[in-house]
Amino acid sequence: MAETFKNFIGGEWVDAASGKRFENRNPADWNEVVGTHPDSDAGDIERAVLAAAKAFKTWRLVPAPKRAEILFRAGQIMAERKEELARLMTREMGKVLAETRGDVQEGIDTAFYSAGEGRRMYGETTNAEMPNKFAMSIRLPVGVCGMITPWNFPMAIPTWKMFPALVCGNTVVLKPASDTPATAAKLVGVLADAGFPPGVVNLVTGGGGRVGTPLIEHPSVRLISFTGSSEVGRRIAATCGEKLKLCSLELGGKNPMIVMEDADLDLALEGALWGAFGTTGQRCTATSRIILHEKIADSFTERLVERARKLRLGNGLEPGSEVGPLVNKGQRESVHGYVQIGLKDGAKLLTGGKAAAGPGLENGWFYEPTVFGSVTPGMRIAREEIFGPVVAILTVKSLEGAIEVANDTDYGLSSSIYTRDVNRAHIAIRDIEAGITYVNGPTIGAEVHLPFGGVKDTGNGHRESGRQVLDVFSEWKSIYVDYSGKLQKAQIDDVEIQ
Ligand code: NAP
Repeated sequence: MAETFKNFIGGEWVDAASGKRFENRNPADWNEVVGTHPDSDAGDIERAVLAAAKAFKTWRLVPAPKRAEILFRAGQIMAERKEELARLMTREMGKVLAETRGDVQEGIDTAFYSAGEGRRMYGETTNAEMPNKFAMSIRLPVGVCGMITPWNFPMAIPTWKMFPALVCGNTVVLKPASDTPATAAKLVGVLADAGFPPGVVNLVTGGGGRVGTPLIEHPSVRLISFTGSSEVGRRIAATCGEKLKLCSLELGGKNPMIVMEDADLDLALEGALWGAFGTTGQRCTATSRIILHEKIADSFTERLVERARKLRLGNGLEPGSEVGPLVNKGQRESVHGYVQIGLKDGAKLLTGGKAAAGPGLENGWFYEPTVFGSVTPGMRIAREEIFGPVVAILTVKSLEGAIEVANDTDYGLSSSIYTRDVNRAHIAIRDIEAGITYVNGPTIGAEVHLPFGGVKDTGNGHRESGRQVLDVFSEWKSIYVDYSGKLQKAQIDDVEIQ
């Protein structure tokens, strides 16, 4: 049965003022309407931002350990509802149940980790250069934070943003992806049940242009935290730049996995399959380039193709399914478009390359796991993010050559190297241009207590997760307390040493 969802503004579940709604369909069975959601506009954003601005006046004064207690309760409620949340997420987004459980777990981990910050959130005390003077720096909240999130991690990504922002004392207006608004609504329901006061967390659903743009442009929104494509991120950064708003961007990836000839090849094969085809390749950290040493290239490719052909596609709620559908029709068309580009550019299609057919797949956006060989670094399928189950194989003669190919992209999110040689591993750690490097693991699998983000076109220098995320959601204030009883001039007065 399709559920009727609402916006959450100022502590109330409300429809869009226009009364308009949009449908959210199951990508594994497009006949199933998972729910309908408010199709909001600038007026709804206005109400949500005003509610958040009003709530900020009191929320900022709640002691951080108290804010954290509410967040801790939210983590407990998410743990109780984990299965229900995961099943809904599979229905609206498509990835298999084991993965949606992982997505919810990441949110739970983030809740408990961020709640811990309520009793840390350290500033610094240091020495003043003048006598009888005290110096320290503290973190203060930013204000109303606008958050715009993608559909591939419908629970984890909103929690990465909201939880540290809330514990820092900010208030939030969340605009989730239109493909996954149901998980976002359930998450906001958890936060309401946990006891966040009215207006501290607000949810407004609707299209990127109609809802996202007024949120970004609103003068009372001090910070925009965005995860999504580099194309949209660039536009958001330009608007925030013009309006001098704080802006944190987590964008695309074209993540390389290097496999050297000395590697444990069985392990590398398992990693390649999981990295390339997990979440149907729709991860910002998906392994989209496999860079093989020439000595093992043919045999490794043969084994990868054989295993890719055997992956079981299906509805993510069915126990045997290993790979779910793509998220929607447009995504399938885009992935297929890249396959045509690869063929035109001269790459060799080794398996896949078409919509998947078969029992149970008739009404879903399924696509065959696809492997391209004979790929060269200049080809578009080696350079552009495809965001689907398509992997490009490139061959190299040395570690130096592998790193050069790995870095030959505009992106720099995740990366990996398989080798048994500790010297090679450390050279890769030092020289690969990416925010994350895995040694003997695939390009996916980040943990919430380490910083997450990338270099080059993957972002604008910020990190989510880890304690580094606090720098996004707080402003530093430096404090000088002079207890000398006289005017002391820094850099000018000479301090007498007796
Ligand atoms: P997207 O098209 O950029 O959309 C992301 C969000 O932005 C959605 O909520 C979307 O709303 C909204 N949006 C679209 N156009 C907008 C506009 N003009 N103004 C304001 N908001 C706008 O990306 P996606 O297809 O959802 O997600 C895939 C991308 O996200 C990939 O590039 C992937 O690499 C990246 N990603 C990065 C990370 C990371 O941490 N680095 C993590 C996950 C995903 P609608 O849904 O309503 O269009």
